[in-house]
Amino acid sequence: MTLPNGWEMVVGLEVHTELRTATKMFCGCANVFGAEPNTRVCPVCLGLPGSLPVLNERAVSMAMAIGLALHCTIAPSTFHRKNYFYPDMPKDFQISQYDLPINARGYLDLTDSTRVTIERAHLEEDTGKSTHLGGTGRIHGADRSLVDYNRSGVPLVEIVSGPDIRSSLQARLYAGELRAVLIATGASDGRMEEGSMRIDANVSVRRSGDPFGTRCEIKNLNSLRSLQRAIEFEAERQVALIEDGGVVRQETRHWDENAGTTSTMRVKEEAEDYRYFREPDLVDLAPSAAWQERVAEAMGPMPAQRRAAVLELLGDASGAQRDAVDVVIDLGLERFVHATAAAGGDVPVAIARVANELAATDDVSRLSVEAFVATVAMEARGQLSATQAKTVLAELLSTGGDPAAIAAAKGFEQLSADSLGGTVAGLIEANPDEWTRYRDGDDKLAQFFVGLVMRETRGQANGKAVIAELQARR
Ligand code: ADP
Ligand code: MG
Ligand code: ZN
Repeated sequence: MTLPNGWEMVVGLEVHTELRTATKMFCGCANVFGAEPNTRVCPVCLGLPGSLPVLNERAVSMAMAIGLALHCTIAPSTFHRKNYFYPDMPKDFQISQYDLPINARGYLDLTDSTRVTIERAHLEEDTGKSTHLGGTGRIHGADRSLVDYNRSGVPLVEIVSGPDIRSSLQARLYAGELRAVLIATGASDGRMEEGSMRIDANVSVRRSGDPFGTRCEIKNLNSLRSLQRAIEFEAERQVALIEDGGVVRQETRHWDENAGTTSTMRVKEEAEDYRYFREPDLVDLAPSAAWQERVAEAMGPMPAQRRAAVLELLGDASGAQRDAVDVVIDLGLERFVHATAAAGGDVPVAIARVANELAATDDVSRLSVEAFVATVAMEARGQLSATQAKTVLAELLSTGGDPAAIAAAKGFEQLSADSLGGTVAGLIEANPDEWTRYRDGDDKLAQFFVGLVMRETRGQANGKAVIAELQARR
């Protein structure tokens, strides 16, 4: 996407991430996704009169881990009440942090080497979840609404970026990297489709060199793709509006995924509208130096560093390989790649298998690193074709076991060199024209012969071995 000449977009993102604590922020209710509605509730998270909040220590540790990962300063902080009415928020206020957040002023480096400042990363509680029935899914035009309070009081950290992002692609890079960081800290599962990471995008446009324009805030984007599309639409809308002599009004906008457009939700509320005041039922939060140290010591390396370590094994990585490495890092499965490298195995194949076969399952616990390395080695030696190696991996992932035994049980005896030679010779004889063209230098025909061999051997042959056989006869 390009804006008309001379125009530039300015974007700042507010990312809400649910913390993976066992229990909610201020009560002992379980913090789980997908439970039967309104079964994980108690007087505190239902906001019943007289109930009192008790702060979850793990939530504070996780918030500090996020702050440290984002190079923020951890500061003594306070809780405030943010007052507004909404049916999914039974107390009629949300406990949040206001002028004194737990994490202040940090940064996140993107893979395109831009540094985006982090203004703050503060703790707050989630609201319940409304479902509007009988219309488009929005409250307007709905017949009735249902509320599930299981999510009410789930701990959140809101991470607010500076207005440093200049393109929709960069916004996507930022959100992707932040997601990887959140997963690496163990504070979040990063599941955008389950709402555990939700993004609000602030977008304004200006003629290059001008001061910042008026921003609009697009609420609740729940995939990287919607984030990118919504920002593009919104920036183009604002430019067209201004070029038509109009003015951008500061407002909160809704992204319609199907229409691919944003529309006015409400005029932007100001801080005064929320009547913030200190939460009288909670004391100030000042984590000791020892506590902060414990959190810092428990933190592993961050994605940027781990990604660099895997890319180093590859040397020159293609774009597709970089994407595969991102998947490996996102899933935290690089131990399989490092073990393959340590055994002198085929690193690109290991990365591809992790980014595809391992990524396709939720649970890799039955697959031992040794079995993975052995499978990749069998493929590299030509004992297994690529297809066979994938089948063996699938079996290892579902039942565990020994790859050689699985291969034998499935009848994956590779064709002996002799019998492969015989097959290739027969096919050359049966296809003289194609063979002549291949001999004369048309390399594309190698795939033609590989296909024939595969069909004749029902996939038992090894593609690389076939090519070697063809070249030997050329
Ligand atoms: P609010 O409470 O109004 O949401 P915050 O300070 O929490 O305000 O968040 C403001 C967000 O908007 C930040 O991410 C910031 O980077 C971004 N932002 C501020 N000014 C602009 C602007 N002119 N254009 C785009 N984004 C902006
Ligand atoms: Mg905000
Ligand atoms: Zn509760």
